[in-house]
Amino acid sequence: MERILVTGGAGFIGSHLCKRLLEDGNEVICLDNFFTGSLDNIKQLHEYKTFKLVTHDITESFSADIDRIYNLACPASPPHYQYNAIKTIKTSVLGIINMLELADRCKARILQASTSEVYGDPIVHPQKESYWGNVNPIGIRSCYDEGKRCAETLMMDYHRQNSTDIRIVRIFNTYGPNMLPNDGRVVSNFIIQALKNEDITIYGNGSQTRSFCYIDDLIDGLVRMMNSDCIGPVNLGNPSERTILNLAELIIKLTGSKSKIIHMPLPADDPVKRQPDITTAESVLNWKPKVGIEEGLMKTIQYFKELL
Ligand code: NAD
Ligand code: UDP
Repeated sequence: MERILVTGGAGFIGSHLCKRLLEDGNEVICLDNFFTGSLDNIKQLHEYKTFKLVTHDITESFSADIDRIYNLACPASPPHYQYNAIKTIKTSVLGIINMLELADRCKARILQASTSEVYGDPIVHPQKESYWGNVNPIGIRSCYDEGKRCAETLMMDYHRQNSTDIRIVRIFNTYGPNMLPNDGRVVSNFIIQALKNEDITIYGNGSQTRSFCYIDDLIDGLVRMMNSDCIGPVNLGNPSERTILNLAELIIKLTGSKSKIIHMPLPADDPVKRQPDITTAESVLNWKPKVGIEEGLMKTIQYFKELL
């Protein structure tokens, strides 16, 4: 049994990760400031005597006696991370410094949830970990993209300077139950619109691509990475790439919805294409996603049906 701190533990990915770590027999401290997290996501976890919830903001220092840290705290949906851009970049930069200092004090291993956004609007396709990216440093997505890039830099600097035991994963678009209904990301937006027979809002012409990974696959990858000898960065995502128009049509089909597709303005700096090269994860972690898009979407649709 290990004592594991999960920051952002009441969020979408964090709540699934806490559950998995508890099921594996660990003691879990879930730390969250509840900006985009929810008590509902973690209510069943209180059944475990080994689960502890701490309301705290990672931009403030934190002390605990722990063996491992998964640093997930940061809003991930563009509307949410742009809502208070200064706070978002503080969460990534001050937050990771606080967590790295804690890791050093406890001699704990720390895993940083980085993102495909470090590649920006990529010119290299699919994206390998060796690609340095194409990021606008002064745009509306920069608070998130540059914050996450700086967090990776800090992880590597603590590792080189202090021998901190680090792991970096770059997560690509992930979806599933426990996303907030008002999250603003594409999968939750389209499913809720489809279930309510409302217009499906495609930003731009829908030819931009993403590659969607189901949450269970991602959680397996995160745990494998934490337990591996590889410091990363390692891409975690499902390489099955599709256009946003195709996603909308698929969700309409799977929900049997009467929704119509409408087009809205494309937000600034919206990446044109995105697909992970997961060769590293396959070879180093023996990991690749198992859940296909239709199966994953059906589980997510069922979750939102029950919620509505
Ligand atoms: P989410 O918004 O559902 O969860 C983030 C959690 O962090 C929330 O519970 C929120 O309340 C908490 N939080 C935010 N700021 C905080 C702060 N300053 N102090 C303490 N807690 C704070 O997002 P998610 O999809 O679960 O993403 C989790 C992590 O994974 C994020 O770091 C995100 O950047 C990364 N990631 C996610 C995706 C994805 O597709 N879901 C893709 C790439 C990277
Ligand atoms: N998107 C869309 N309609 C929506 C929400 C998002 O067309 O209601 C598009 C968005 O412009 C982007 C893609 O879907 O091209 C993925 O958006 P999301 O916010 O989920 O993630 P990210 O852009 O960070 O990959």
